[in-house]
Amino acid sequence: MGLRFLNTLTRTVEPFVPLDPAGREVRMYTCGPTIYNYAHIGNLRSYMFEDLIHRHLELRGFTVKRVMNITDVDDKTIRDSRRAGLSLGAFTEVYLQAFYEDLKTLRIKPADAYPRATSSEYIERMIRMIATLIERGHAYQAEDGSVYFRISSFPAYGRLANLDLDELRPSGRVASDEYEKESVADFALWKAWDEADGDVGWESPWGRGRPGWHIECSAMATALLGDQLDIHCGGVDNIFPHHEAEIAQTECCTGVPFVKYWLHGEHLLVEGQKMSKSLGNFYTLRDLLDKGWSGREVRFALLRVNYRLQLNFTFAGLEDARTALGRIDEWVARLTDHARAATGPESHPAFEGERFEAALDDDLNISAALGVLFEAIRETNRALDAGILTPGQARAGLDWWSRLNHVLVLDTEAAAIPAVVTALLEERQQARLAKEWKRSDELRDQIAALGWEVKDTKEGVKLTKKAA
Ligand code: AMP
Ligand code: ZN
Repeated sequence: MGLRFLNTLTRTVEPFVPLDPAGREVRMYTCGPTIYNYAHIGNLRSYMFEDLIHRHLELRGFTVKRVMNITDVDDKTIRDSRRAGLSLGAFTEVYLQAFYEDLKTLRIKPADAYPRATSSEYIERMIRMIATLIERGHAYQAEDGSVYFRISSFPAYGRLANLDLDELRPSGRVASDEYEKESVADFALWKAWDEADGDVGWESPWGRGRPGWHIECSAMATALLGDQLDIHCGGVDNIFPHHEAEIAQTECCTGVPFVKYWLHGEHLLVEGQKMSKSLGNFYTLRDLLDKGWSGREVRFALLRVNYRLQLNFTFAGLEDARTALGRIDEWVARLTDHARAATGPESHPAFEGERFEAALDDDLNISAALGVLFEAIRETNRALDAGILTPGQARAGLDWWSRLNHVLVLDTEAAAIPAVVTALLEERQQARLAKEWKRSDELRDQIAALGWEVKDTKEGVKLTKKAA
């Protein structure tokens, strides 16, 4: 059986066949962050699952073209930038940079493009799309000056979220970007300027205003990936209204099906509860790094539960992740040692076939895939203990591990370096470039105090962990 995904749209597991007639290129769009705050670990779980799709598609030989948008104007960014007394641009920039850093810390593969909703080319495109929708009778300007999508003009509205519109009896309009299924109604494409928007706004045929959140994604996705996409993902909370709205707007403009496979990641809970500031269980990645966890450990903790299941994040779970990674590291070290005497790889049943890949083919069944890894570790550790694993087999094991790492990215080397050490090292590089030798030495001492040794060699800077 080949690669297959559970498609939210059809609620069935379907074989994956890309739109590309050559069957190679995959066009993938992932809803990115709304940059009004630091990403929390729930958001990051969603990006981790998208990373897994991306990497597994590559492991299976596809070329992935992936776009992740940045929502830098919406109800929340405007509200909070005003509270902070900053311009929208200055306010969001901080969180955008923090977001890129988080992706790096978690070793998430960068997308090919991170379009920003406020770029003039996309604002223009949104305006053009809205004009087309009005022309075709799918949208109208209301008395409040805003433009709304007429959901009764699109019979497929509600299909993704499996809503029965007859039962819900939609009525009226809804101006805010987010709302519950119970209040399904015509939604805003263009929001007429009002006091609360301050200096945020663009001119349009319907007066000064700003786009609704949903049209932003329709415009950026089609601008960069074309009218039809293979895969579109996000967290389950994006299904309604966001993705439902994206389908309606886009298909009424293009006349063709927008997305072939819709994939949605389940939520992350913390100690069994919804993450919220009031419960005091709200964590950003920085919070966890400050508590001494590494990006690699958090990556593993977020990765190891299948994306269609809720993930209950606990500190005991992080401890388990640390232990599991310790076992991997020990195993890799043993194999490396043993493989030194090898002249070439020799086959061993634990490393043969494609059981790891096959598990991921099954709608990204990562827990089964990790089961294959840990079974191989157990088996070959036993063989090492018994002295019956050949150096060549150890070599094959290391080759196998590096193949798995295209997806897992849990390789040891860079792994153990904490983000704070990396940051200090970068700062030291800057100091050296500026010939600030004293500063550079201070930074080296700070790094040493954290248990790491910096050596300047001919090949560049080397960082090693000092023996405990
Ligand atoms: P936002 O910045 O709110 O637009 O959310 C960014 C991404 O994080 C979206 O794909 C959401 O579906 C996802 N998300 C939000 N909360 C959670 C959560 N608790 N667990 C997993 N994903 C989440
Ligand atoms: Zn989106």
